[in-house]
Amino acid sequence: MDWPTQRVENIPADEFVPPHCPDAGCPSNRETDPVPFRCIRKGWYRRQAAPHRVRRYLCTVCGRGFSQQTFAVSYYLKHPERLVPCAAGLCAGSSFGQIADVHGGHRSSWARLSERIGRHAMLLHALVLEEIRARRLLVEPLVYDHLETFAACQDYPIGIGLLALKESRFVLSVDAAMHARPRRLPWERARRDSRYRRWGRPPRGAYARAVAATRDRLLAISAPDVRLRLATDAHPAYRRFDRSPRIERAVHPNPPRRRGGPRSAEVRERHRQLWLADVLDKLVRHETAGHKRETIAFMRRHACLVLRVFVNVVRRNLVAPRSKRAGRAQAHVTPAVRLGVVDERWSWSRIFAQRIFPHRIALPDDWAAIYDKRLNTPMVGKNTTHRLRYAY
Ligand SMILES: [Zn+2]
Repeated sequence: MDWPTQRVENIPADEFVPPHCPDAGCPSNRETDPVPFRCIRKGWYRRQAAPHRVRRYLCTVCGRGFSQQTFAVSYYLKHPERLVPCAAGLCAGSSFGQIADVHGGHRSSWARLSERIGRHAMLLHALVLEEIRARRLLVEPLVYDHLETFAACQDYPIGIGLLALKESRFVLSVDAAMHARPRRLPWERARRDSRYRRWGRPPRGAYARAVAATRDRLLAISAPDVRLRLATDAHPAYRRFDRSPRIERAVHPNPPRRRGGPRSAEVRERHRQLWLADVLDKLVRHETAGHKRETIAFMRRHACLVLRVFVNVVRRNLVAPRSKRAGRAQAHVTPAVRLGVVDERWSWSRIFAQRIFPHRIALPDDWAAIYDKRLNTPMVGKNTTHRLRYAY
């Protein structure tokens, strides 16, 4: 995959060449008959964070001014050194308050930064998927399951669908299904219903829509002549996968909950086939403070929750070794290395090597809604959306 090893901030000004115009509306960025991009150097500006002198440019096609920093993930950040500790802290099970205790600053600054990291992770993941599609790397069997968590209030749970490749353990797709919560006790039902009357009931059919979105994504990145083998449990919404003749689905129902006694052959087979889905569920809960049971670090917005899952996915695919048990000799083998989409294990710093512009990537509709924070959390009241024009 074509991704720089050096961060834009660290490239000497004389060696840096702006790759394209950062303005989405520039005629040089048009899909149909684009005008060739041309720019000129136009002075410098001084700033407090290093590098203190930054070169400015002017696009001669549309007249927009920009600088070398415009192409860095740390664009407009007053503390560019916080990107790596924030990403690493989020995947080490820390809350924003705990990260702020260690590295300084206010927890709300870290929360805002985490959203930028989440958006960057989503765009980077989309780039990696595009590489997988172009090089026809998708041939392994797959496994799919939902992780149940919540934001703001437990009566607004959300299922996070994770689709992964069984052999390389590469996480391919993330989807989100906010749904109503089944309640057993009468007083719980009454409290839930009063909340739904006040803030609105979660939309019906969210699982089916999420599964359809993941199915379409899977079909889009796989070669048309490859038959895809998928293992799932018996959730009725997963039948949406069966609508594509290219997907061959094996169903392994979850066993009824009971303790003790020997496991039947079907149960053993279910655990063998869906092992990776169970492990991913455990690891995401282990690594993210907001997904732990009985936590006070739970997340407040569903959109931010899903963005945080993307940070986790990018770490799992590119930064973390495929297996910790395999020992030091295999420590450089990440799922992405095993899949063959990149040559070596990436560091967090490399993840942030350059900024990705959303207008240069076609995000699927459900991901675009999460990127712009249009996925509403009813309880929050006024849900702010991400509408910044130049930043990201
Ligand atoms: Zn331009």
